[in-house]
Amino acid sequence: MQDIETIWKQILEKLELRISSVSFMLWIKTIKPLEIDENENFILVAQSVTAKNQILRNFLDKINDCANEVTGKDFKITVLDQNEEVEYLKNNKVDEKNSSKNEEKSPFKEKFTFDNFVVGKSNQFVYAAARTVAEHPGKRYNPLFIYGGVGLGKTHLLHAIGNYIHEFSPNLKIMYVTCEQFTNDYIASLYSPTKNKSIMEFRGKYRNLDVLMVDDIQFISRGKETQEEFFHTFNELIMNNKQIIICSDRPPKDIETLEDRLRSRFSSGLIHDIQAPDIETRIAILHKKSQLEKYYAEDEVINYIAERVDSNIRELEGKLSEVYFLATLNGKKVATMEEAKEVFTKEPNEEVKNDLTTDKIINTVCDYFNISYQDIIGKKKNKEVVVPRMIAIYLINDLLNLPLVVIGKIFGKRDHTTIMHSRNKITSELQTNKKMQNLVNDIKGLL
Ligand code: ADP
Ligand code: MG
Repeated sequence: MQDIETIWKQILEKLELRISSVSFMLWIKTIKPLEIDENENFILVAQSVTAKNQILRNFLDKINDCANEVTGKDFKITVLDQNEEVEYLKNNKVDEKNSSKNEEKSPFKEKFTFDNFVVGKSNQFVYAAARTVAEHPGKRYNPLFIYGGVGLGKTHLLHAIGNYIHEFSPNLKIMYVTCEQFTNDYIASLYSPTKNKSIMEFRGKYRNLDVLMVDDIQFISRGKETQEEFFHTFNELIMNNKQIIICSDRPPKDIETLEDRLRSRFSSGLIHDIQAPDIETRIAILHKKSQLEKYYAEDEVINYIAERVDSNIRELEGKLSEVYFLATLNGKKVATMEEAKEVFTKEPNEEVKNDLTTDKIINTVCDYFNISYQDIIGKKKNKEVVVPRMIAIYLINDLLNLPLVVIGKIFGKRDHTTIMHSRNKITSELQTNKKMQNLVNDIKGLL
């Protein structure tokens, strides 16, 4: 069989013809093919959890179809997010099988390093603690407990510790798990048909480590067994001077599900919080991401985004990539204020069902007026096509809040002013024209 990259390339060529260009760019092109295993599972990795959900909800069937057409086999597509990929790689050793290099690949995210972590007032102490722990695992702050809001860099720091140790102390056994993975792993061994053996294996895996990192401990369930197992794992490691690092979105005292004895264990080392970054740090982070991801943007754009997103770094990056994506659609190599303003003028419509896509709106409008997809996005100018086209444009803008340039691309590379004109026309018709109101309401009902 051909290698997975070649197969995936052929699948992509087919998918591109069946999925709207925006969805293709946003969700499909960014997929990484990981492996085809012995059981004909075709494993793909999505760029983010959101992307994974979008793919599962809207494109899985199409991917399946195209994969089968290309290979003539009946693959089962599995989509992982990046955390699941790390876990998968650890369990399956894909790289050993696939590459001739003997060098062991780090299970940690390559870009989540100390070098790529921007230090500012909000995170300098946590950074210093994480660095110390990476340099002297088990010697200084043990356990290290890091807490802070969503998207502030906790997982990044854990991976940075992992990457550092992997590079400088490659002999140390180090493991990163989410609390959920730990729990599932333990439960699986409890309910395994060979329970005793499985539990021994579980303990062998978690208690013979030099460094254990547990992310998102706030999700620990009340289940007595898991807490008990975690308690003993914790004690065993600490007693042997092995390093434990735990992350959470809140301090131990506020994790309601946590048993007191674990709470007091967590509080026995160093507890540090990570706060929302100030404006200087946000600007520095955006510059860093712009370099790393090649999302080129004018300085004014960087400042503009930094002023508007102040509490979540993941969202900060997300906005930069959106702005850059729009710029590329506009044929630019560097994002300008035009795109930045467009991204921030409209926020997503919260009430809309999240399985609504541009294709669904266009297809519904086409069915309603009994015209073809090709016609509605094409160049025809007769009334039978023009009115439905304007309604579809209006609905996409209204319900999905997609920027006008993006809608323009979907509708046969039309200019964004043309799209704006269509949208405004329907908006004003809706104020006076009863027939138009009924039409639009009918179609909304069908969505
Ligand atoms: P958390 O685990 O706290 O929810 P993450 O560690 O997943 O957050 O961080 C979210 C995103 O923000 C990641 O892409 C990460 O690289 C980035 N990030 C967070 N803090 C920083 C920082 N100080 N410097 C650079 N990037 C950061
Ligand atoms: Mg995290």
